[in-house]
Amino acid sequence: MRIVIVGAGVAGCVMARRLSRLGGAEVMCLERVARDDHSEAGTGLNVGPNAVKALRVIDPELADSITQNSFVWRNWRISLTDGTVLFDLPLSEVADGPGWRIRWSELYRVLREAAAPHVQYGCEITDIGRDAADPCKTRLTWTQDGRIAHLDGIDLLIAADGRYSRTRRIMSGEPGIRLTGVAVFRVLVGDTSGGLIDDYEQWFNGPNRLLAFRVPPSHVYIAGTFPIPPEADIPEDLKAPQVLHAAYTPPNAPPSAQARWLIDTVCQNAAETHWARMQEHDLLYRADDCNVLYLGDAAHGMVPTLGQGATQAIEDAANAAALIARHHRDGVDDVGRWLADIEALRKDRMRFVMEFSRDATDTMLAGADPVEGTRHKNEGPFRNRLKALYRDVGLP
Ligand SMILES: Cc1cc2nc3c(=O)[nH]c(=O)nc-3n(C[C@H](O)[C@H](O)[C@H](O)COP(=O)(O)OP(=O)(O)OC[C@H]3O[C@@H](n4cnc5c(N)ncnc54)[C@H](O)[C@@H]3O)c2cc1C
Repeated sequence: MRIVIVGAGVAGCVMARRLSRLGGAEVMCLERVARDDHSEAGTGLNVGPNAVKALRVIDPELADSITQNSFVWRNWRISLTDGTVLFDLPLSEVADGPGWRIRWSELYRVLREAAAPHVQYGCEITDIGRDAADPCKTRLTWTQDGRIAHLDGIDLLIAADGRYSRTRRIMSGEPGIRLTGVAVFRVLVGDTSGGLIDDYEQWFNGPNRLLAFRVPPSHVYIAGTFPIPPEADIPEDLKAPQVLHAAYTPPNAPPSAQARWLIDTVCQNAAETHWARMQEHDLLYRADDCNVLYLGDAAHGMVPTLGQGATQAIEDAANAAALIARHHRDGVDDVGRWLADIEALRKDRMRFVMEFSRDATDTMLAGADPVEGTRHKNEGPFRNRLKALYRDVGLP
């Protein structure tokens, strides 16, 4: 059984490590960047309790390693930038355990170390296609250290190459993309807040929102959003420090101590911020009539509102790996059947997660009233959806 994984990111590393334990499987994970290059991952992540729960089922040792390099995420608070608290939720009320707060580069380091024997770095894929002898299988060509390498007869190709997955574009065409009309910026800074910022919090001024939390060793991750016309690029003048200052400063009251520190820090670091437009793309778990599995962002780039991107990459990988291991153990080595079962297991769950993430963005859209919009987040229906999000991970 020949299994190739493209991308040693979140989903790719979890899969490489778990599938390499299957008897008789040859598992290879090809990663584009060089070893120890985590430079594209310069921010912080809050990883949901659902990922922790799922990973614990299939790989408790890996879950423990991540825990050792994280702070626990126990609480979610939403306030206005003048300090008025709108929502304050201990995650224990809606989840079976806490989540993680971690630097993205640290998460990559831990995952890549754990998958190390199976990952090859510096691989630039030059060709992907169907195998000439068996069109359900695939072939792959890549360059590594100036040498060309080629593999055919691949029984299972797993595309874990992220939001702009080249594997998915080649094998299944361009995914449909929907922009939500929200600009997002992110920055990771040293913690000079003097204890003002710790667990996961959000602050609104109208629909403009700041989000921040502390991550190890002593950093604060800050993300900000504001509405823009849905199809427009982010206007350059909106990225200027004085414009950002005005966007988050409450009009009729002084900012809270937290908001003041955040606004000042964002303005001081305006040149370092990473900008993006909030968007999602069509859900797809497998190629037609060919044994290619899409996982993580390659399967479902989603809006980041509920912090479910890396979280679902882990949940995807945990479910897919567990299902493959079970079939393999039971002597079911029909890869097409594995993929059909993974799709059946994950599709409705992912539709729910994507829709919930979209709905939760309501308070960030043009004209939104965060006070009214957050009020309903205190009510039963929203909390029940959170319980389903954080608890129903598909694994025992
Ligand atoms: C700034 C920012 C903040 C975020 N915050 C959060 C958060 O708080 N919580 C959360 O859950 N999610 C968050 N996300 C989303 C999260 O990071 C992604 O959803 C997650 O990393 C997806 O995991 P993945 O395994 O699908 O892909 P990735 O982790 O993106 O991994 C893809 C891997 O494939 C490699 N690759 C790409 N193309 C090729 C190729 N052609 N050949 C070989 N290798 C290739 C890449 O180098 C990379 O290593 C955030 C994203 C961003 C950008």
